[in-house]
Amino acid sequence: METEKIFTLENAHTSGAYAKRPAALVRGKGARVWDSDGREYIDCIGGHGVAVVGHAHPAVVRAISEQAERMIICPESFYNDRRAELYERLSRHTPDGLNRFFLCNSGAEAVEGAIKAARYFTGRPGIVAMKSGFHGRTLGALSATWNPKYRKPFEPLLAGFQHVSFGDLDAADRAVGDDTAAVIVEPVQGEGGVNPGSAAFFDGLRRICDERGALLIADEVQTGFGRTGRWFAVEHFGLAPDIMVLGKGIAGGVPAGAVVWHRRLGTLKPGIHGSTFGGNPLAAAAAIATVHVLEEERLPERANRLGTWLLAELRQIRSPVVKEVRGLGLMVGIALRVRVTPVLRDLMKKSVLALPAGPTVLRLLPPLVIEEEDLQAAAAAIREVLESV
Ligand SMILES: *Cc1c(COP(=O)(O)O)cnc(C)c1O
Repeated sequence: METEKIFTLENAHTSGAYAKRPAALVRGKGARVWDSDGREYIDCIGGHGVAVVGHAHPAVVRAISEQAERMIICPESFYNDRRAELYERLSRHTPDGLNRFFLCNSGAEAVEGAIKAARYFTGRPGIVAMKSGFHGRTLGALSATWNPKYRKPFEPLLAGFQHVSFGDLDAADRAVGDDTAAVIVEPVQGEGGVNPGSAAFFDGLRRICDERGALLIADEVQTGFGRTGRWFAVEHFGLAPDIMVLGKGIAGGVPAGAVVWHRRLGTLKPGIHGSTFGGNPLAAAAAIATVHVLEEERLPERANRLGTWLLAELRQIRSPVVKEVRGLGLMVGIALRVRVTPVLRDLMKKSVLALPAGPTVLRLLPPLVIEEEDLQAAAAAIREVLESV
Protein backbone atom coordinates (compact mmCIF):
# COMPACT_ATOMS: atom_id res chain seq x y z
CA MET A 1 0.00 0.00 0.00
CA GLU A 2 1.24 3.48 -0.86
CA THR A 3 2.40 5.69 1.99
CA GLU A 4 -0.18 8.43 1.31
CA LYS A 5 -2.96 5.85 1.26
CA ILE A 6 -1.82 4.38 4.58
CA PHE A 7 -1.77 7.84 6.19
CA THR A 8 -5.20 8.72 4.78
CA LEU A 9 -6.85 5.50 5.91
CA GLU A 10 -5.35 5.58 9.38
CA ASN A 11 -6.20 9.25 9.86
CA ALA A 12 -9.78 8.57 8.79
CA HIS A 13 -10.24 5.76 11.31
CA THR A 14 -7.77 6.07 14.17
CA SER A 15 -9.15 6.50 17.68
CA GLY A 16 -7.06 9.63 17.91
CA ALA A 17 -5.46 8.39 21.13
CA TYR A 18 -1.98 8.41 19.61
CA ALA A 19 0.15 11.23 18.26
CA LYS A 20 1.48 9.90 14.94
CA ARG A 21 4.89 10.36 13.39
CA PRO A 22 5.07 10.76 9.62
CA ALA A 23 6.23 7.28 8.66
CA ALA A 24 4.52 3.92 8.14
CA LEU A 25 6.75 1.16 9.48
CA VAL A 26 6.20 -2.02 7.52
CA ARG A 27 9.17 -4.31 8.19
CA GLY A 28 11.79 -4.99 10.86
CA LYS A 29 14.88 -7.11 11.37
CA GLY A 30 16.97 -7.06 14.53
CA ALA A 31 17.31 -3.41 15.56
CA ARG A 32 16.45 -2.03 12.11
CA VAL A 33 13.05 -1.13 10.72
CA TRP A 34 11.92 0.07 7.29
CA ASP A 35 9.13 2.40 6.28
CA SER A 36 6.75 2.07 3.33
CA ASP A 37 9.10 4.14 1.16
CA GLY A 38 11.94 1.73 1.86
CA ARG A 39 13.78 4.08 4.20
CA GLU A 40 15.83 2.33 6.92
CA TYR A 41 15.99 3.37 10.59
CA ILE A 42 17.94 2.29 13.67
CA ASP A 43 15.17 1.42 16.07
CA CYS A 44 15.80 2.59 19.64
CA ILE A 45 12.07 2.41 20.38
CA GLY A 46 11.72 -1.34 19.89
CA GLY A 47 7.93 -1.25 20.11
CA HIS A 48 8.20 0.66 23.41
CA GLY A 49 10.74 -1.77 24.79
CA VAL A 50 8.96 -4.91 23.60
CA ALA A 51 11.50 -6.04 21.00
CA VAL A 52 14.16 -7.30 23.44
CA VAL A 53 15.21 -10.05 21.01
CA GLY A 54 14.84 -7.69 18.03
CA HIS A 55 12.37 -7.71 15.19
CA ALA A 56 11.68 -10.99 13.38
CA HIS A 57 14.11 -13.09 15.37
CA PRO A 58 14.22 -16.40 13.42
CA ALA A 59 13.70 -18.52 16.56
CA VAL A 60 10.58 -16.55 17.53
CA VAL A 61 9.24 -16.56 13.97
CA ARG A 62 9.72 -20.34 13.78
CA ALA A 63 8.07 -20.93 17.16
CA ILE A 64 5.05 -18.82 16.19
CA SER A 65 4.56 -20.43 12.80
CA GLU A 66 5.02 -23.99 14.10
CA GLN A 67 2.61 -23.38 16.96
CA ALA A 68 0.07 -21.70 14.66
CA GLU A 69 -0.01 -24.91 12.61
CA ARG A 70 -0.68 -27.00 15.72
CA MET A 71 -2.94 -24.95 17.99
CA ILE A 72 -3.48 -21.22 18.50
CA ILE A 73 -6.02 -21.18 21.31
CA CYS A 74 -6.56 -23.49 24.27
CA PRO A 75 -8.51 -22.23 27.28
CA GLU A 76 -7.01 -22.53 30.75
CA SER A 77 -9.76 -25.01 31.64
CA PHE A 78 -7.50 -27.51 29.89
CA TYR A 79 -3.82 -28.29 30.31
CA ASN A 80 -1.51 -27.43 27.44
CA ASP A 81 2.05 -28.52 26.62
CA ARG A 82 3.30 -25.05 25.63
CA ARG A 83 1.87 -23.39 28.74
CA ALA A 84 3.46 -26.05 30.97
CA GLU A 85 6.82 -25.56 29.28
CA LEU A 86 6.55 -21.78 29.65
CA TYR A 87 6.00 -22.04 33.43
CA GLU A 88 9.04 -24.25 33.72
CA ARG A 89 11.22 -21.92 31.64
CA LEU A 90 10.11 -18.69 33.30
CA SER A 91 10.61 -20.16 36.79
CA ARG A 92 14.31 -20.63 36.04
CA HIS A 93 14.74 -16.87 35.93
CA THR A 94 12.17 -15.33 38.28
CA PRO A 95 13.39 -14.57 41.83
CA ASP A 96 13.44 -17.44 44.36
CA GLY A 97 9.98 -18.64 45.30
CA LEU A 98 8.17 -16.61 42.61
CA ASN A 99 6.69 -19.46 40.64
CA ARG A 100 2.90 -19.09 40.66
CA PHE A 101 1.72 -17.42 37.47
CA PHE A 102 -1.40 -15.82 36.08
CA LEU A 103 -0.95 -15.44 32.33
CA CYS A 104 -2.66 -12.64 30.42
CA ASN A 105 -2.24 -10.39 27.39
CA SER A 106 -0.70 -7.05 28.29
CA GLY A 107 1.11 -5.11 30.97
CA ALA A 108 -2.00 -3.30 32.14
CA GLU A 109 -3.92 -6.57 32.39
CA ALA A 110 -1.07 -8.00 34.45
CA VAL A 111 -1.18 -4.95 36.78
CA GLU A 112 -4.94 -5.49 37.17
CA GLY A 113 -4.22 -9.11 38.08
CA ALA A 114 -1.55 -8.09 40.59
CA ILE A 115 -3.89 -5.60 42.30
CA LYS A 116 -6.62 -8.23 42.50
CA ALA A 117 -4.19 -10.88 43.77
CA ALA A 118 -2.85 -8.51 46.45
CA ARG A 119 -6.35 -7.64 47.65
CA TYR A 120 -7.40 -11.28 47.51
CA PHE A 121 -4.39 -12.65 49.41
CA THR A 122 -4.38 -9.96 52.11
CA GLY A 123 -8.09 -9.20 52.39
CA ARG A 124 -7.11 -5.51 52.47
CA PRO A 125 -8.05 -2.71 50.02
CA GLY A 126 -5.15 -0.23 50.07
CA ILE A 127 -2.54 0.21 47.34
CA VAL A 128 0.41 2.57 47.74
CA ALA A 129 2.01 3.60 44.44
CA MET A 130 4.74 6.06 43.51
CA LYS A 131 4.66 9.58 42.16
CA SER A 132 5.87 9.52 38.53
CA GLY A 133 5.00 5.81 38.48
CA PHE A 134 3.37 4.26 35.41
CA HIS A 135 1.42 1.01 35.44
CA GLY A 136 -0.89 1.20 32.41
CA ARG A 137 -4.16 2.77 31.31
CA THR A 138 -7.01 0.45 32.23
CA LEU A 139 -9.00 1.77 35.18
CA GLY A 140 -7.34 -0.35 37.89
CA ALA A 141 -3.84 0.12 36.49
CA LEU A 142 -4.60 3.81 35.90
CA SER A 143 -5.47 4.15 39.59
CA ALA A 144 -1.85 3.15 40.33
CA THR A 145 -0.45 5.35 37.51
CA TRP A 146 0.46 8.80 38.76
CA ASN A 147 0.37 11.27 35.86
CA PRO A 148 -2.68 13.55 36.35
CA LYS A 149 -2.86 14.07 32.58
CA TYR A 150 -3.71 10.37 32.13
CA ARG A 151 -6.00 10.19 35.19
CA LYS A 152 -8.06 13.37 35.35
CA PRO A 153 -10.46 12.80 32.45
CA PHE A 154 -11.42 9.37 33.79
CA GLU A 155 -12.04 10.03 37.47
CA PRO A 156 -13.39 8.68 39.74
CA LEU A 157 -10.79 5.90 39.69
CA LEU A 158 -10.53 3.01 42.16
CA ALA A 159 -10.75 3.85 45.84
CA GLY A 160 -7.91 2.98 48.21
CA PHE A 161 -4.97 4.23 46.13
CA GLN A 162 -2.41 6.79 47.23
CA HIS A 163 0.92 8.01 45.83
CA VAL A 164 4.15 8.80 47.65
CA SER A 165 7.38 10.26 46.27
CA PHE A 166 9.65 7.67 44.68
CA GLY A 167 12.58 7.42 47.08
CA ASP A 168 10.83 8.97 50.10
CA LEU A 169 10.86 6.30 52.81
CA ASP A 170 9.29 8.55 55.44
CA ALA A 171 6.30 9.13 53.16
CA ALA A 172 6.02 5.40 52.48
CA ASP A 173 6.26 4.74 56.20
CA ARG A 174 3.31 7.07 56.81
CA ALA A 175 1.25 5.73 53.90
CA VAL A 176 1.51 1.99 54.53
CA GLY A 177 -0.84 0.83 57.26
CA ASP A 178 -2.95 -2.07 58.49
CA ASP A 179 -5.32 -1.69 55.54
CA THR A 180 -2.58 -1.69 52.87
CA ALA A 181 -2.70 -4.68 50.55
CA ALA A 182 0.42 -3.75 48.61
CA VAL A 183 3.01 -1.24 47.60
CA ILE A 184 3.58 -1.19 43.83
CA VAL A 185 6.83 0.14 42.42
CA GLU A 186 8.89 0.08 39.23
CA PRO A 187 12.57 -0.77 39.93
CA VAL A 188 13.41 1.82 37.28
CA GLN A 189 10.57 4.20 36.47
CA GLY A 190 10.09 4.13 32.70
CA GLU A 191 7.38 6.49 31.45
CA GLY A 192 8.02 8.74 34.45
CA GLY A 193 11.43 9.74 33.09
CA VAL A 194 13.82 6.75 33.40
CA ASN A 195 14.46 7.05 37.13
CA PRO A 196 16.39 4.16 38.71
CA GLY A 197 15.46 3.47 42.33
CA SER A 198 18.05 2.76 45.01
CA ALA A 199 18.83 -0.34 47.09
CA ALA A 200 18.32 1.73 50.27
CA PHE A 201 14.82 2.75 49.18
CA PHE A 202 13.81 -0.78 48.17
CA ASP A 203 15.30 -2.25 51.40
CA GLY A 204 13.23 0.23 53.36
CA LEU A 205 10.06 -0.55 51.40
CA ARG A 206 10.63 -4.27 51.99
CA ARG A 207 11.01 -3.68 55.75
CA ILE A 208 7.91 -1.43 55.94
CA CYS A 209 5.81 -3.99 54.03
CA ASP A 210 7.01 -6.83 56.25
CA GLU A 211 6.27 -4.87 59.43
CA ARG A 212 2.69 -4.07 58.34
CA GLY A 213 1.87 -7.30 56.52
CA ALA A 214 1.60 -5.60 53.12
CA LEU A 215 2.84 -7.16 49.88
CA LEU A 216 5.48 -5.63 47.65
CA ILE A 217 4.72 -5.63 43.93
CA ALA A 218 7.56 -4.98 41.47
CA ASP A 219 6.27 -3.79 38.10
CA GLU A 220 8.89 -5.25 35.74
CA VAL A 221 6.81 -4.75 32.60
CA GLN A 222 9.42 -2.43 31.08
CA THR A 223 12.52 -3.48 33.05
CA GLY A 224 12.13 -7.26 32.77
CA PHE A 225 13.64 -9.78 30.36
CA GLY A 226 17.17 -8.44 30.30
CA ARG A 227 16.38 -4.81 29.57
CA THR A 228 18.43 -3.40 32.47
CA GLY A 229 21.34 -5.85 32.22
CA ARG A 230 19.87 -8.51 34.52
CA TRP A 231 16.97 -10.87 33.88
CA PHE A 232 14.89 -8.71 36.20
CA ALA A 233 15.84 -5.28 37.52
CA VAL A 234 15.04 -6.26 41.14
CA GLU A 235 18.32 -8.24 41.01
CA HIS A 236 20.33 -5.00 40.85
CA PHE A 237 18.92 -3.95 44.20
CA GLY A 238 18.67 -7.28 46.05
CA LEU A 239 14.92 -6.67 46.13
CA ALA A 240 12.74 -9.72 46.87
CA PRO A 241 9.19 -8.80 45.78
CA ASP A 242 6.12 -10.85 46.71
CA ILE A 243 4.55 -10.25 43.32
CA MET A 244 6.11 -9.31 39.99
CA VAL A 245 4.28 -7.92 36.96
CA LEU A 246 5.56 -8.86 33.49
CA GLY A 247 4.68 -7.77 29.97
CA LYS A 248 6.28 -5.99 27.02
CA GLY A 249 9.26 -8.18 26.03
CA ILE A 250 7.92 -11.41 27.53
CA ALA A 251 6.81 -12.96 24.22
CA GLY A 252 9.11 -11.20 21.76
CA GLY A 253 6.32 -8.97 20.44
CA VAL A 254 3.30 -11.26 20.62
CA PRO A 255 0.82 -9.71 23.08
CA ALA A 256 1.31 -11.30 26.50
CA GLY A 257 1.67 -10.46 30.16
CA ALA A 258 1.97 -12.31 33.44
CA VAL A 259 1.58 -11.89 37.16
CA VAL A 260 3.97 -14.06 39.16
CA TRP A 261 3.87 -14.37 42.92
CA HIS A 262 5.62 -16.15 45.75
CA ARG A 263 4.36 -19.67 46.31
CA ARG A 264 3.91 -18.94 50.03
CA LEU A 265 0.95 -16.69 49.12
CA GLY A 266 -0.93 -19.72 47.84
CA THR A 267 -3.22 -19.92 44.80
CA LEU A 268 -6.33 -18.16 43.57
CA LYS A 269 -9.58 -20.04 44.01
CA PRO A 270 -11.11 -21.32 40.72
CA GLY A 271 -13.34 -18.75 39.02
CA ILE A 272 -12.03 -15.77 40.98
CA HIS A 273 -10.15 -14.28 38.01
CA GLY A 274 -9.71 -15.15 34.34
CA SER A 275 -8.88 -14.12 30.78
CA THR A 276 -10.08 -15.67 27.51
CA PHE A 277 -6.74 -15.38 25.72
CA GLY A 278 -4.54 -15.72 28.82
CA GLY A 279 -2.03 -18.55 28.58
CA ASN A 280 -2.80 -19.23 24.93
CA PRO A 281 -0.38 -21.63 23.23
CA LEU A 282 0.64 -19.15 20.50
CA ALA A 283 1.85 -16.53 22.99
CA ALA A 284 3.32 -19.26 25.19
CA ALA A 285 5.35 -20.62 22.26
CA ALA A 286 6.58 -17.11 21.43
CA ALA A 287 7.51 -16.52 25.07
CA ILE A 288 9.38 -19.83 25.36
CA ALA A 289 11.36 -18.95 22.23
CA THR A 290 12.06 -15.45 23.56
CA VAL A 291 13.36 -16.75 26.90
CA HIS A 292 15.45 -19.29 24.99
CA VAL A 293 17.02 -16.56 22.83
CA LEU A 294 17.73 -14.42 25.91
CA GLU A 295 19.54 -17.42 27.45
CA GLU A 296 21.40 -18.58 24.33
CA GLU A 297 22.56 -15.14 23.22
CA ARG A 298 23.20 -14.02 26.83
CA LEU A 299 21.21 -10.89 26.15
CA PRO A 300 20.97 -9.64 29.76
CA GLU A 301 24.80 -9.61 29.89
CA ARG A 302 24.88 -7.94 26.49
CA ALA A 303 22.45 -5.25 27.66
CA ASN A 304 24.66 -4.69 30.69
CA ARG A 305 27.81 -4.31 28.58
CA LEU A 306 26.28 -2.17 25.82
CA GLY A 307 24.33 -0.10 28.34
CA THR A 308 27.46 0.72 30.34
CA TRP A 309 29.15 1.81 27.11
CA LEU A 310 26.13 3.85 25.98
CA LEU A 311 25.75 5.72 29.28
CA ALA A 312 29.45 6.64 29.27
CA GLU A 313 29.26 7.72 25.62
CA LEU A 314 26.18 9.88 26.12
CA ARG A 315 27.75 11.48 29.21
CA GLN A 316 30.49 12.83 26.88
CA ILE A 317 27.95 15.02 25.11
CA ARG A 318 28.74 18.67 25.73
CA SER A 319 25.51 20.54 25.34
CA PRO A 320 23.79 23.13 27.52
CA VAL A 321 20.45 21.41 26.90
CA VAL A 322 21.53 18.15 28.58
CA LYS A 323 20.67 18.07 32.27
CA GLU A 324 21.42 14.45 33.11
CA VAL A 325 22.06 11.07 31.48
CA ARG A 326 20.73 8.17 33.53
CA GLY A 327 19.59 4.59 33.21
CA LEU A 328 20.39 0.95 33.71
CA GLY A 329 21.48 -1.44 30.97
CA LEU A 330 19.75 -0.62 27.69
CA MET A 331 17.09 1.49 29.40
CA VAL A 332 18.51 4.98 29.04
CA GLY A 333 17.14 8.47 29.57
CA ILE A 334 18.59 11.86 28.69
CA ALA A 335 16.95 14.59 30.75
CA LEU A 336 16.85 17.80 28.70
CA ARG A 337 16.29 21.45 29.51
CA VAL A 338 14.14 21.72 26.37
CA ARG A 339 11.14 19.85 25.04
CA VAL A 340 12.03 16.48 23.60
CA THR A 341 9.64 16.35 20.61
CA PRO A 342 11.75 18.48 18.21
CA VAL A 343 14.84 16.48 19.21
CA LEU A 344 13.04 13.23 18.35
CA ARG A 345 12.04 14.73 15.00
CA ASP A 346 15.64 15.71 14.21
CA LEU A 347 16.84 12.25 15.18
CA MET A 348 14.29 10.68 12.87
CA LYS A 349 15.70 12.80 10.02
CA LYS A 350 19.02 11.13 10.84
CA SER A 351 17.30 7.73 10.65
CA VAL A 352 17.31 7.06 14.41
CA LEU A 353 14.05 6.31 16.23
CA ALA A 354 13.92 7.22 19.92
CA LEU A 355 11.02 7.85 22.28
CA PRO A 356 10.11 10.32 24.99
CA ALA A 357 9.58 9.66 28.70
CA GLY A 358 7.50 12.68 29.62
CA PRO A 359 7.88 16.11 27.97
CA THR A 360 11.63 16.62 28.44
CA VAL A 361 13.30 13.19 28.67
CA LEU A 362 14.67 11.40 25.62
CA ARG A 363 14.40 7.64 26.14
CA LEU A 364 16.20 4.77 24.42
CA LEU A 365 14.90 1.19 24.57
CA PRO A 366 16.80 -0.52 21.73
CA PRO A 367 16.55 -4.26 21.12
CA LEU A 368 19.19 -6.03 23.22
CA VAL A 369 20.51 -7.63 20.03
CA ILE A 370 21.40 -4.24 18.50
CA GLU A 371 24.70 -4.35 16.59
CA GLU A 372 27.45 -2.35 18.26
CA GLU A 373 27.92 -0.25 15.10
CA ASP A 374 24.23 0.62 15.12
CA LEU A 375 24.35 1.66 18.76
CA GLN A 376 27.44 3.76 18.01
CA ALA A 377 25.70 5.35 15.04
CA ALA A 378 22.63 6.11 17.17
CA ALA A 379 24.78 7.66 19.92
CA ALA A 380 26.65 9.76 17.33
CA ALA A 381 23.36 11.01 15.85
CA ILE A 382 22.07 11.93 19.32
CA ARG A 383 25.29 13.80 20.03
CA GLU A 384 25.08 15.74 16.75
CA VAL A 385 21.47 16.67 17.33
CA LEU A 386 21.93 17.71 20.97
CA GLU A 387 25.14 19.62 20.32
CA SER A 388 23.39 21.62 17.61
CA VAL A 389 20.21 22.50 19.58
C1 LIG B 1 4.12 -0.29 29.43
C2 LIG B 1 3.94 -0.46 30.89
C3 LIG B 1 2.74 -0.94 31.45
C4 LIG B 1 1.51 -1.18 30.63
O1 LIG B 1 1.67 -2.16 29.68
P1 LIG B 1 0.63 -2.25 28.44
O2 LIG B 1 1.02 -3.53 27.76
O3 LIG B 1 0.83 -1.03 27.61
O4 LIG B 1 -0.72 -2.31 29.02
C5 LIG B 1 2.70 -1.18 32.81
N1 LIG B 1 3.77 -0.93 33.59
C6 LIG B 1 4.93 -0.46 33.10
C7 LIG B 1 6.09 -0.24 34.01
C8 LIG B 1 5.06 -0.21 31.73
O5 LIG B 1 6.20 0.30 31.24
